[in-house]
Amino acid sequence: MNFKELASEYKTPLYVYDLDYMSEQYQELKSAFKGRKSILAYAVKANSNLSVVKHFADLGSGADCVSIGEVRRAFLAGIPAYKIIFSGVGKCDDEIREAIEKDILYINVESEAELFRVESIAKELNRTSRISIRVNPNIDPQTHPYISTGLHDNKFGVDIGTAKRMYIFAKNSEALEPVGVHFHIGSQLTHLEPIYEAAVIVADMVRSLEAIDIELKFFDIGGGLGITYDDEVTIKPYDYAQAILGTLKGLDLTVICEPGRFLTANAGYFLTKVLYEKQNGTKKFVVVDGAMNDLLRPSLYNAYHKIEAITDSTSEVRKVDIVGPVCESGDFFAKDYSLPELNHNDLLVVHSAGAYGFGMGSNYNTRGRSAEVAVQDGKARLIRKRENFEDLIALEKEFLV
Ligand SMILES: *Cc1c(COP(=O)(O)O)cnc(C)c1O
Repeated sequence: MNFKELASEYKTPLYVYDLDYMSEQYQELKSAFKGRKSILAYAVKANSNLSVVKHFADLGSGADCVSIGEVRRAFLAGIPAYKIIFSGVGKCDDEIREAIEKDILYINVESEAELFRVESIAKELNRTSRISIRVNPNIDPQTHPYISTGLHDNKFGVDIGTAKRMYIFAKNSEALEPVGVHFHIGSQLTHLEPIYEAAVIVADMVRSLEAIDIELKFFDIGGGLGITYDDEVTIKPYDYAQAILGTLKGLDLTVICEPGRFLTANAGYFLTKVLYEKQNGTKKFVVVDGAMNDLLRPSLYNAYHKIEAITDSTSEVRKVDIVGPVCESGDFFAKDYSLPELNHNDLLVVHSAGAYGFGMGSNYNTRGRSAEVAVQDGKARLIRKRENFEDLIALEKEFLV
């Protein structure tokens, strides 16, 4: 990929996505489940650009959405209703109503109270709502605590006992049709055992439901497959799929998998230019034109991203902090990172930026969000314009008195 050319054509800061890499990741994971009916439902929140979602739609993907806005994106991008799932711990009445009206595959219910809301809204609409229940198998996923979701002290899902009660309630309700079970124990998972243990627990629950005549169709294993940011050893898609399938013996279920990061993270690059270098005491800083409002992961999770310098500099490497212009000490991309001396306008390429990058962006410090570019078959095209000042004030201007 010619980053220099892309930066000069589209300016910086800039997100660049390799759509061909996304296709490869999709196909590798999809084929790992062969021999069993499966749907990959792309987790739209990882990278919700319409052109990216459309790319997955074209590959046959479904969509896992966590707001009605994401459901609308999925529809706009051409994902069929019967492959769209609506998850999330807090759904507003309007969102539930729209999801039922749009007749998506199912609403993934995350609490008993929510089940009652879905039932009463479905009744109002005179409809039956397909649902799955998100269970929390209380397994430690061995990942960063901010992205762990499958422990009882996380806010997500319900315990197995509650889930069974909810399935019985749903089975007896005319307005509800329980069709699936869901679990998602965390993100950036690099150990297979916790996923396997969770699948065993949930598969057993499915069997115990069958015994009381509640037949589910979908076994939704969530997302969470980890990727290599630095030197992490990751789970192989084939091993992952086989471990899950091994827990489903004797069950006639379609497997649904909701990958986000796995499909997009390493397809994305964030391009930023060096403004200047400075030194405070013994500390050296490289100040760049991108900031935490563009890519929040280092500030939020202290996440590591590999950073590559494109420069003519031939100096020795030194340890530097790479920081942006935002007025926060937390505004950095890397600390004590080895880079050579850099010049004004040298380019830094931040790797693994295709998931939870642009989507977590903001307008903090009245900075427009970056442009996004897709590269496919060696050709680049703009898929989101850079925000300008007028865009930022558009919703305020009329109120200026
Ligand atoms: C965030 C999320 C995903 C995707 O997670 P990744 O780690 O990006 O694969 C899948 N399912 C649900 C319910 C989620 O909340």
